[in-house]
Amino acid sequence: MTAIPFIDLKAQQARIAGELRRRLDGVLAHCQFILGPEVAELETELATFCGAKHCVAVSSGTDAIQIAFMAEGIGPGDAVFLPAFTYTATAEVPLVLGATPVFVDVDPRTFQMDPAHLGRRIAEVRRGGKLRPRALIGVDLFGQPADWPALSAIAEREGLFTLDDLAQSFGCTLHGRPLGAAADATVTSFFPSKPLGGYGDGGALLTESDERAALYRSLRTHGEGTSRYEVLHTGMNGRLDSLQAAVLLAKLTVFRDELASRERVARYYDSRLGNAVMTPARVPDSTSAWAIYAILLRDAAMRQHVQATLRADGVPTAIYYPRPLHLQPAYREHHDDARLPVSEDLAERILALPIHPYLGTADMARVCDCVLAAVS
Ligand SMILES: *Cc1c(COP(=O)(O)O)cnc(C)c1O
Repeated sequence: MTAIPFIDLKAQQARIAGELRRRLDGVLAHCQFILGPEVAELETELATFCGAKHCVAVSSGTDAIQIAFMAEGIGPGDAVFLPAFTYTATAEVPLVLGATPVFVDVDPRTFQMDPAHLGRRIAEVRRGGKLRPRALIGVDLFGQPADWPALSAIAEREGLFTLDDLAQSFGCTLHGRPLGAAADATVTSFFPSKPLGGYGDGGALLTESDERAALYRSLRTHGEGTSRYEVLHTGMNGRLDSLQAAVLLAKLTVFRDELASRERVARYYDSRLGNAVMTPARVPDSTSAWAIYAILLRDAAMRQHVQATLRADGVPTAIYYPRPLHLQPAYREHHDDARLPVSEDLAERILALPIHPYLGTADMARVCDCVLAAVS
């Protein structure tokens, strides 16, 4: 049997081939490779899609986080609260800017940041008296939204800048509205494997604030002012290529339909696997972009067994994340030794199954048959 692809970018490319070619040819015709008209068009489309006032397209999700933090002047002495169970980029940026990440545990069923633990971590930092609680990065993990009403209430009480890391979850909704305006600023990523991915690196910032949007535009082009040779801020080269914007515009034409297809796969997995393994708990009153569909197995040995069995049957799996960030060699010395038991436990038992919009019925069934046979 042929192996099932974990993510099928080729099937998607075949579907949008005509529109993709038309968009790329447009860029090749005008040769405005940097900040060409496709970038502005994409920004308008993305802002409209998620009901945000401003969108600024940038070179990656990581650079989007950096620009958002540079705009706030976050740096040495500042504590930035973020979940321990996420991708490394979330923790890396505060450190690059000289700030200190403070790791927070996650909910054992939804895998999203635990607001109660966030409250305790802020209190600990205040008691410690060394760092100033400054910002919160809420990550919408695996496609689902974080508990933004609870996170925002805590941030407001504590006077924290809020950044929504929507890199994995662009397209999800919370309380009937697309995420994109839940925090002071929102960042997303167009890394090829994300739900809305380009053919290379890319990202975007979303915000309701006119001042922040203007500052983000300046910072992504070396802090330039109204003319190119006036430098107002210390910035960076953080622009999105016109060619990437062209690819993303082509992909946006099928994005809503792809979200519906991912939901179909998730529901099928839920129904077939729900009695045998722990399937992902839904965040109440939300929809997911299903970047990742992760099950929880009994223990590390069972995960290893299931992963090996599936691999032998041509079913790829992945582990997001095998090690929580507070235990990573690079970050351990910046961690205050707090135990984060849920993140540590998830790292041992979690396993992601193939999910993408082009996963056919026979392949979905094969994935489930293999999982059920392995755990029985
Ligand atoms: C992918 C990702 C990022 C970084 O995005 P890049 O575009 O790869 O820089 C940041 N945060 C999370 C949670 C991610 O999954």
